[in-house]
Amino acid sequence: MLKALVLPYGSPGWKDKMRVLEDILSSRQTAPFLYNDVLILVPSSRMKRMYGRLFLDFAERRGSAALVQPEVQTLHQFLQRLYGRLNGPLLMDENSRLVLLEGIVKERLSNSSSFPLNPDLLAPSLTSAVATMIEQLSGAGVNPDDLQLKIKDSDFSDKPQVRLLLDVYTRYQGVLKDSNLTDPAGMRAFLRDHFDPAWLAHYRTLIIDGVQDFGPLEAAILKKVAGCGDCAWLVNAPSSGLLNHAGEYHPLRIVKDSLVMTGVLPTEERIGADEGQLFLASALFSDRPFPEIADKAPHPSSFSKTINLLSAVNTREEVTLIASEVKKSLKTGTPADSILIAFPALDEYGPLVEEIFTDYGIPYNRALGRQLSTSAVAIAVVSLLRACQEDFSGASLLRVTSSPFLKFAENRKIAAALDRLMRDKRIAGGKQKLLTALKFTKLDEGAPDVLTGPLNDLFAALEPFSSQDVSPLNIWMKRLYALIAWSGLGARVAAIHGPLNVNLQAYRKLIETLGSLAQAGSLFADYTYTFHEWLFLLKKTFMHTRFQVPPEDEGGVQILGFEESLGHPWQEIYLGGLVDNKFPQRLPQNIFLPEQTLETMGVRTLERARLNAAYHFYRLLLSAGKVTLTWPENEGDRPVVPSPFLEELTPLKKAGLLNRGIEKTSGIQFSLKIEDSRSIPELAKAISLAGEIKDLNAILNANIEGVSGIRSALDYKPEEHAQGITTLVKREFWVTELDDYIKCPYDYYVKYVLRIGPLEEVTEDISPMDRGSKVHAILRNFYLSWTRPVTEEARDEARTLIRKLAGSAFDTEADTFRNRRDKELFLTVMAERFLDAEEEFWKQGFRPAYLEQKIECYPLVLMNGKDVELSAKIDRIDADENGNFIIVDYKTGKYPLPRMNVDQDIFQLPVYAVMAQKALSGKGLALKKPIGLAYYDLAGKTGAGARDVVLFNKQARNDHPSSKPNASPKSAEEFDAILNQSMDKARKAVEAILAGDFTSTPQDENRCRYCPNEMLCEKKEA
Ligand code: SF4
Repeated sequence: MLKALVLPYGSPGWKDKMRVLEDILSSRQTAPFLYNDVLILVPSSRMKRMYGRLFLDFAERRGSAALVQPEVQTLHQFLQRLYGRLNGPLLMDENSRLVLLEGIVKERLSNSSSFPLNPDLLAPSLTSAVATMIEQLSGAGVNPDDLQLKIKDSDFSDKPQVRLLLDVYTRYQGVLKDSNLTDPAGMRAFLRDHFDPAWLAHYRTLIIDGVQDFGPLEAAILKKVAGCGDCAWLVNAPSSGLLNHAGEYHPLRIVKDSLVMTGVLPTEERIGADEGQLFLASALFSDRPFPEIADKAPHPSSFSKTINLLSAVNTREEVTLIASEVKKSLKTGTPADSILIAFPALDEYGPLVEEIFTDYGIPYNRALGRQLSTSAVAIAVVSLLRACQEDFSGASLLRVTSSPFLKFAENRKIAAALDRLMRDKRIAGGKQKLLTALKFTKLDEGAPDVLTGPLNDLFAALEPFSSQDVSPLNIWMKRLYALIAWSGLGARVAAIHGPLNVNLQAYRKLIETLGSLAQAGSLFADYTYTFHEWLFLLKKTFMHTRFQVPPEDEGGVQILGFEESLGHPWQEIYLGGLVDNKFPQRLPQNIFLPEQTLETMGVRTLERARLNAAYHFYRLLLSAGKVTLTWPENEGDRPVVPSPFLEELTPLKKAGLLNRGIEKTSGIQFSLKIEDSRSIPELAKAISLAGEIKDLNAILNANIEGVSGIRSALDYKPEEHAQGITTLVKREFWVTELDDYIKCPYDYYVKYVLRIGPLEEVTEDISPMDRGSKVHAILRNFYLSWTRPVTEEARDEARTLIRKLAGSAFDTEADTFRNRRDKELFLTVMAERFLDAEEEFWKQGFRPAYLEQKIECYPLVLMNGKDVELSAKIDRIDADENGNFIIVDYKTGKYPLPRMNVDQDIFQLPVYAVMAQKALSGKGLALKKPIGLAYYDLAGKTGAGARDVVLFNKQARNDHPSSKPNASPKSAEEFDAILNQSMDKARKAVEAILAGDFTSTPQDENRCRYCPNEMLCEKKEA
């Protein structure tokens, strides 16, 4: 006899379930408690373990330790065991199914003219789409003939993708039949057709608990199972009335449809939900208008549930918010394992939750499996293979040599030596380049060669993967097994002790997964793979495979997936990450058949996914006395839209039932007040910002883990006489560094005092700085060789000289795209602009008098009477026969432009002018009077000619080329004032540096936008 019992969600339903179980168990009043004639079917392993604990409690309460437990099985295990009794075709696993489908898809694509792209490119992505489609069709009981029949008159039946689907599906079924294999859908269909009630005859009672949302094949089997004896089907729903009347878009429809398919119509209700619960159940996903629902809401004083909807500024703050609420609850005595934390995208949130919950000292149990591809052991294996795929690129080799799971971990010097070699030789990897570099590297005397042996060892181990051959899957797997044995992965994982360590679990799953792929390889040996295809398959398989880390116990706050949270009595639920597109998850449209056609065949993927998400949202809202829903307002720097399901709370909001007693419901973020700190990191941050604090000793002296770090930090006192950040005793300054100080004192501090610079990526491309140096050197060498005017007639000759010099400068660099482009840019743009400018310049009667002229030990007297020394290297100084001179600076990038008044951003050139006038007056060609300051705009940033005399004394001469003809000419007094002011700026900059004044005050705020000091400078936080 079949009874369907409706149990409400949450604690009332849980109590009722206990009564049902007690009724069944009380059939045996005294020990021995033998219950192996009771079969319980549940949806998850976690629920199975929960039943195990319940029965032990039951026996203990009756004073007996001896108990033969009822048989509890997950539906999946149950079906597989029943199938094991039949002599049906061999059930293949998911990996074999995908390998077979990928092989068929590739085979079909290479014979088809409808898909002109290379099948190797198309197959991997098409295969997963075809595999999912076939799984859905066969799950709905639609075979290839049915499909053909149903679409034969449609206008899309002739489309290439539809023909491909039919073709692959037919072939797939054919291969299964010929090989005596079956897939999960085939297994269920076989079981349905060969089910024997005698298998279950020895069970006195059957209980089906929490099993819902299944397809027609499972429904047919469960119907037969339920008919085998005394069966109680436990259905969770607020009431049988709501369940029976669930409309097309209501979340309960998912339960109703499953029950209808099995012929179970729930009519019996042992206890009802309370009034508030029933209101909530009928208000959510109702088809009535919100105001109408709100009117029928109970008065807030009689609504016992607490429902909150909160949003935090970002995901970190959202998890912090949840952690602080959980911590408050734990402090008020809520048992940790009665608190549920769930996220639609737990993989994304998991690491953050673990980090913040650990900081908060909250005991937790994260039960959902993890992606194998994210485990350190899978990453180590893939890194090895990727090193080969990328021809041993620097990045991949560094990953391999620094992995703690591979054999090179035994010698830490290898990774460091490799990094040094690549930086010194400026190579970005490559087997041949590395070998050549190793051959010609001279080691320091007595220094051992730590690289040659290991690298050759690695190259040899990966040799089987370097060939271009096409091999069957099992050959690739054999090669991989040999590589893993060589890498010492197993031994290194085993060296980490503890049976539950995450790497050991990942390693076991990895070996199991490789075994499954090897099995697929032996089943389908005809399908072959190139190395790239095989590696893609391997990575895809690791991505789909999940591994569990069994907790030492399952206590603590429960961080679970939606399915795993079923069937537990929760006191508090926190449901986070409720953002659009993730909840419900947006799925891609079906590429093969229109949704309406699929619906007529019982395949309702998109609608089913939405209903499933809605069902869990609905269920969780009704499953605890306190439910907190959260969402982040931003993800990274992107604002996000909340989940559309949250609209369902509108009637509650209107009725004053939402967020009762909470003032701030949005824009929530961590408070920086000491008294609000709930973790040691938060306390440390709050103390560091609070400055001098009284009465903190009680906390600091309490024996709290982690506080000693804060105590030591507070105990540290900087030296008494320290002024500012630091006091320098420096006496020599380059003009360029003073210019950097003027641009931003804090940036100067980072670069010149701390000497921190961003770590450059190892690359064979020349850096912008190197390119600038090369350009400067070419132009200097040009005038070292060219001692006469540049004229129109001599232009070709001058160009040839420049080309020759450019060849020597650039051609020694690696032949990369960027390096070629840089040389081309120099020859076609910079050199031509330079020669154009020179032709005009020589007509003015000037000539380059000094090239890359160094001036050192130039005395600069400070306000305190002491002096320091300035140094400079001036690109070029042009002079006429009277000793009038112009300072020249070559620029491949931007430069400051002149202003209309005396105050100028141009700083270096006027200082150079003053220094040159004094330092070079008695040398070679005497420089009598500075009359101009020029930049050579080689890249054409201003749009004018290359020679841009940005400031000049118009009274000395007024015929200079200039991109700012109004701002550049100055009177003799103004020009002198600019030179004097610049020297004054230099002096003030030196004094400020010596005084340790390194404030975050950039000359131009725009500079902060591209500044690499963001981690250090407070400017960005302000
Ligand atoms: S972010 Fe701005 S203020 Fe800070 S160091 Fe950079 S340029 Fe200076």
